[in-house]
Amino acid sequence: MKFINLGWLFFLFIVSTFAETRPNILFLFSDDHALRTIGAYPGSINNTPNLDRIAREGALFTNSFNVNSICCPSRAAILTGKHSLANGVIGNSSKWNGKQWVFSREIGKSGYQTGLIGKWHLKGNPTDEFQSWEILSGKGGQGSYFNPTFLSPNGESKVTGHSTKIITDKALRWLKKRDQKKPFLLCAQFKVPHIHRLPPINRMNGYDGIEFPVPETFFDDFSSRSSFVSETWMALKGMKGNVLNIAPTKEEIDKNPKIRPPFLHEMNSKQRKAWHSAYDPRNLRYRKLIQEEKLQGKTKSLYIYQRFIKDYVRCVDGLDDQIGRILNFLDEQNLTENTLVIYSSDQGFFTGEHGWAEKRWMYEESFKSPLLMRWPKMVKPGTRITQLVQNIDLAPTFMKAAGLIPPETVHGIALQPILSNPSSRSWRKDILYQYFDGGTRENRGPYNMPRHEGIRDTRYKLISFYDYKKWEFYDLKNDPEELHNLFNQESMKFEVNRLQKRLRIKKAEFGL
Ligand code: CA
Repeated sequence: MKFINLGWLFFLFIVSTFAETRPNILFLFSDDHALRTIGAYPGSINNTPNLDRIAREGALFTNSFNVNSICCPSRAAILTGKHSLANGVIGNSSKWNGKQWVFSREIGKSGYQTGLIGKWHLKGNPTDEFQSWEILSGKGGQGSYFNPTFLSPNGESKVTGHSTKIITDKALRWLKKRDQKKPFLLCAQFKVPHIHRLPPINRMNGYDGIEFPVPETFFDDFSSRSSFVSETWMALKGMKGNVLNIAPTKEEIDKNPKIRPPFLHEMNSKQRKAWHSAYDPRNLRYRKLIQEEKLQGKTKSLYIYQRFIKDYVRCVDGLDDQIGRILNFLDEQNLTENTLVIYSSDQGFFTGEHGWAEKRWMYEESFKSPLLMRWPKMVKPGTRITQLVQNIDLAPTFMKAAGLIPPETVHGIALQPILSNPSSRSWRKDILYQYFDGGTRENRGPYNMPRHEGIRDTRYKLISFYDYKKWEFYDLKNDPEELHNLFNQESMKFEVNRLQKRLRIKKAEFGL
């Protein structure tokens, strides 16, 4: 009897020790965040001291990619660790099958307390993927920037304020109320800096007197690329009025309330007052420039770029403030040492490169996602990782961090080997991309762009527009901005054939 009691005590000791040593996982996630608007990334145009802190105290991934650079497919790929065709979310209108394997359910079953707060944006609400969830609701799952409505198993509730701070408040409340005997997995998923960009009130001002750098490819003429590229409907110069926060002034709306644009309706009077105070002077200056015929051709395109990028950065500033609150909370609660903190976005974004403000393409700016990771017990401060990683790697990474073995059906690879040895030579050498939201040959969909797939290795990229039997091939070392399609260049024939073969092998490897 005595032996059994001791054995049982020993078992409990092992279990409790195991539970205490497993790291907490805090996944901080945003929407459409370009690498060049995070201070830690080379070529950055702004300061993000709190996001940079994650990279400084941990790792900065400079080659983190998506499997399909658009909102819903990216979220499904992260949850399942699988390419889009395997998890069923190939485009933004695909239905989410919540019954399939997801890392968060498995981690929850292993003794973690799990929660999701913020932007879910899959077609089908969560069920048991997380033990608790509270997601932005309305506007097709996008939610509102101001006074958003949240949906949880208890129903809907509207909260006053700006979505970035509200999601942070809810995340901190969740952390405070958690069962401290268990490790936690919390996903805090923000709406910023997705279009229509409305910064929080305290970040609406600023940047009026400065001009942000313009990407070198802003006036790209697309001369060496497939015709699809120039025909795409994602040019910044085509952005108009409301989406750039160009709208009637308070005085004009007071005289004729019918002209109030829809986005101002989501704000209360205090928020609208702040918005008008920040934007009316800008919009009056804009009108004057138009009246004086000073906004024509390239000058107008550059003006639109500055309006766009300033609101984008103001939204990022608001996010960075809240990331700071979260990191401070971890410090205050002595959670920093044993918490794996990750910051990423569902994809990158063209912020003026090639004249665009969008994602979707396999070109670097949208194919890449920011990825910052702090994990004091595993990652040395100031680590920079240049290896090719993908969003499907996060699920197996989290599983392994929680002491679990990822199932063989998962396509991604746990990142742990390159966290401890960033220059490992045994890491993957190429990655597969598949984008399906482009519509058919007859109708290329809302962005007038074709479906495509491709493969990227550490130097070259091959893209197949298979509906049209057209190809693109880029040498990323000599042409990092992807301006020269070398597919038909004789000297590249060997590399083109090699990557065409690798594309076939890689698809077969995943059964795609
Ligand atoms: Ca997105």
